Amino acid sequence: MRALQPARGTQDLLPEAARRHRRVIETARAAAELYGFAEMATPIFEFTEVFARPIGEHTDIVAKEMYTFTDRGGEEVTLRPENTAGVVRAVISNGLAQSVPLKFFYSGPMFRYERPQKGRFRQFHQIGVELIGVAQPQADIEVIALGSRILDTLGLRAHVVLELNTLGDAESRAAYREALVSAELSEDSRRRLDRNPLRIFDSKEETDQRVAREAPAFADYLNPESRNFFDRVRGGLDRLGIDYRLNPRLVRGLDYYTHTAFEFVTTDLGAQGTVMGGGRYDGLVEMMGGPPLPGVGWAAGIERLAMLIGEPPAPRRPIAMVPIGETGEAAALTIAEVLRYHGWAVDLSYSGNLARRMRRANRVNARVAVLIGEDEIARNVVAVRDLDSGEQSEVVAPTDLKVPIDLSLRELRARLQVFYS
Ligand code: ATP
Ligand code: MG
Repeated sequence: MRALQPARGTQDLLPEAARRHRRVIETARAAAELYGFAEMATPIFEFTEVFARPIGEHTDIVAKEMYTFTDRGGEEVTLRPENTAGVVRAVISNGLAQSVPLKFFYSGPMFRYERPQKGRFRQFHQIGVELIGVAQPQADIEVIALGSRILDTLGLRAHVVLELNTLGDAESRAAYREALVSAELSEDSRRRLDRNPLRIFDSKEETDQRVAREAPAFADYLNPESRNFFDRVRGGLDRLGIDYRLNPRLVRGLDYYTHTAFEFVTTDLGAQGTVMGGGRYDGLVEMMGGPPLPGVGWAAGIERLAMLIGEPPAPRRPIAMVPIGETGEAAALTIAEVLRYHGWAVDLSYSGNLARRMRRANRVNARVAVLIGEDEIARNVVAVRDLDSGEQSEVVAPTDLKVPIDLSLRELRARLQVFYS
């Protein structure tokens, strides 16, 4: 039955995969905090116009990839394909533009109708940061340094290369457009030029790629301000010891970028090698109806990062509560609750004979099992079994469970502590 399959390009995050995702997100969240970026979240769907104009009508995202629909109230809404436009919308709608600089971190699902393949999905997840209100190159440097730090902490720095380019300012791009207009271009490329002359470098179409190969170097058309800005970004990265490779063909898929553009790229993922991409977007806030505020940020694909990290952290090893008989079950339930109250992870087995319950204890990789049967209860003890060595001993465990929850089971807790310290 088709409806029992996940929709094409979507996938379930089973516990192992979820732990990988969580490792990426928690690493990024902690690093973002070190750099003074505050976590925030915007809605997963917005009015379509939040994305359409800012991202660019002629981009692949807007032209082919958005999940757009009319809701039951007749509103045209879109599942967010990326989060920069949403964050900027939030800055404007919450009147935050007065209190710049703003530094935000986010993570969550994004949606693009793409052809699914390794590292490319229709629902995927991103972490990202935005630094809004700082025109100086320090912002670009800090944002890249944060990205680099995250990749470092994930153990990926040796697997990725930072590629860097400048898209210059509007004046430089206009000069470049002039140069290209007199070049031999196909009708198609000429149309693309209109909005963003650098777009030809991002095109996967053969005609555009030919033009891109033969086009004059954009660097020769940078005005002094743009050149100076780029030099300062590079100088800052050099001082921080962040290596990069200049890539004059690197342009971003969205129209709103200016000056710095960068990507962290790996060869370990086949064609889907870009794990993190970003740049400066000085015109975006104003274009969306806010004051003329500069901005810079990046977004990274969690699935791609998660595939690259080694083993995800193992889940913590719980205590297995293994009751025998009905009285045992009642006692186990209460003891489990007391232990959890004190911060232990406890896996309570619900049914089956002793052998079956012990199998479950092994399956959940418990460190230790606490066995409670009629006989133990009668003697006011529980059996504690070390599941690694198989050794077992008894501990006094008052089953007078009316004592205050935080005072009871002192001895049992002391014994269990040995296994987890
Ligand atoms: P690509 O060139 O791979 O299509 P992009 O330039 O469209 O990437 P961005 O919009 O810059 O990507 O998004 C930033 C990051 O999000 C990418 O570098 C990638 O890691 C991830 N990403 C983008 N699209 C997808 C997708 N469809 N599935 C999984 N990850 C994605
Ligand atoms: Mg893409």
